[in-house]
Amino acid sequence: MNHGFLIDNRKCIGCHACSTACKSENQVPLGVSRTWVKTTESGLFPDVTRHFQVTRCNHCENPPCAKICPVTAMYRRADGIVEFDPDVCIGCKGCLQACPYDAVHIDPDKGTAAKCHFCAHRVEVGMEPACVVVCPEHAIIAGDLDDPTSKISRELARNPVSVRKPEQGTRPNLFYVGGQHASLDPLATLDAGGGMFTDATADGPISIGSPTGAAGPHRVAGQMVQTAYTVRHPASWHWPVPAYLVTKGIAAGIFGMLSAMALSGAAITGLPAALAGGLGVLMLAVTTGLLLLDLERPERFLSIVLRPQWGSWIARGAFILIAFSGAATAWWGAEIAAWMGWIADVPRAALALLTAPLAAAGAVYTAFLLAQAEGRDLWQSPLLPTHLLIEAAIAGSAALLVIGPALGEPLPALARTVLVVALFADLAALGLGELAIPHASTVAARAAREIVKGRYARMFWGGAIGLGHIAALALLAVGHPVASALAGVCALIGLYLYEFAFVMAPQQIPNS
Ligand code: SF4
Repeated sequence: MNHGFLIDNRKCIGCHACSTACKSENQVPLGVSRTWVKTTESGLFPDVTRHFQVTRCNHCENPPCAKICPVTAMYRRADGIVEFDPDVCIGCKGCLQACPYDAVHIDPDKGTAAKCHFCAHRVEVGMEPACVVVCPEHAIIAGDLDDPTSKISRELARNPVSVRKPEQGTRPNLFYVGGQHASLDPLATLDAGGGMFTDATADGPISIGSPTGAAGPHRVAGQMVQTAYTVRHPASWHWPVPAYLVTKGIAAGIFGMLSAMALSGAAITGLPAALAGGLGVLMLAVTTGLLLLDLERPERFLSIVLRPQWGSWIARGAFILIAFSGAATAWWGAEIAAWMGWIADVPRAALALLTAPLAAAGAVYTAFLLAQAEGRDLWQSPLLPTHLLIEAAIAGSAALLVIGPALGEPLPALARTVLVVALFADLAALGLGELAIPHASTVAARAAREIVKGRYARMFWGGAIGLGHIAALALLAVGHPVASALAGVCALIGLYLYEFAFVMAPQQIPNS
């Protein structure tokens, strides 16, 4: 048994009955949709064509939404239906980032992920999905793809079909007859702004009724290709995610440096060790708080630990952070105990051997988590693990410089050196790796353009590069402890602004 949909775009009349039936059958709240009729228009007045495409979850055979889910709330059933369990979902929104089709949303009433689930409750009792029953044109066929005698198999055998974004490797089980490139590819059209009758063209605004475009500010495109109606999918990860990247990086950087010093025989002791370790542990606590803050259902956080889906890097990352927090807190506790005179010595080399790999894993695991977010091409960079290590070095050394006047040498001297080297390495990584080398896909290139030339350009050039690198390096050149502390502040602000742009820009590129 392998359930799938076949949708005949040639028959669809855009009546929205399927969308309405889905809303009613599944009690979908206002403002979100499990299925909708995407409408695109092409041609030049008066030869304009409108295309309808019923759009929804593809019930992929290789669903990235299920792979990233840390608690198996999103999963593929044995009968091919990709189902979700609102009683288990913690609202991490990983599936919204992983789905390359914008098929998942957060239910505003429940705070959990939701999408088309093939009306599984109806299918289980021998009925068809509500959209299939209500369609007046028989444009939607649901059935068993494994049964060669089923209607869907017979239609598939005699019609050429297309799927959305086959290059993603998700193997959709929703097939379109008469699929239009303008509807299948979200980047093939100009976004008309959400209104059914908004005037916009592939080349710019169009003045309907004035095909020559001779007068006025409007131009007429050679060929109009626009999305006239689709459902909006706003960004679902916001400021807590880039903030978590920075706080986690601070903790990893600090304990990485403390480990390096301990293993090289130049361990920091006494109050400076207690202060530096305390800052690292505090940042780990803030990291946990930010992760909880970003959950739609934070009271279910423990589900990640109690019922982990081990293939998910969200779940793996949680265990890495727990282990890192445990090792870091043990080290910090030992430093406090030694400083207070409760114990004679701290086994720093052993603690460093335990903590350093966990700090590195804590810094890097997010690269693998973001790689599972297959709906965001910019996050698929193979350079990301290295870049996150560099960012941890920046964050840790900058944070140590901020409290440098209280630490006393030699830790601030080491932090200054690390920060200078890491900032130059970061410039190289940003310049060469992420922005100058051609991107693997048009989607990734569009997101990168948003960062360097689009809505995040000021944040990137002024904040991340100007303040976070150039101003920070200039202040470090002064050499005074106060200037170094200011350099640390600049580097941290710049790092946050870069992370913000990096997290937000890919979410602005439509997937449907
Ligand atoms: Fe549906 Fe998207 Fe998951 Fe594919 S990845 S099964 S389209 S939600």
